[in-house]
Amino acid sequence: MTTANSLVYDIALTRQNLRQLELRLKQLQANCIHRFTESTTHRECKKCKFVESIHY
Ligand SMILES: [Zn+2]
Repeated sequence: MTTANSLVYDIALTRQNLRQLELRLKQLQANCIHRFTESTTHRECKKCKFVESIHY
């Protein structure tokens, strides 16, 4: 396999892995009872890292 081929292959694998991780995080966040830490622009759940922008 050429270097380019193996890089393309690695990228494809990594993307697939990333999608699965994002899906797992999304499911975790969907089931979370959020505990938000508030800042001026957004608030973030301490437990699952779910971020919500605050618009005034
Ligand atoms: Zn949460």
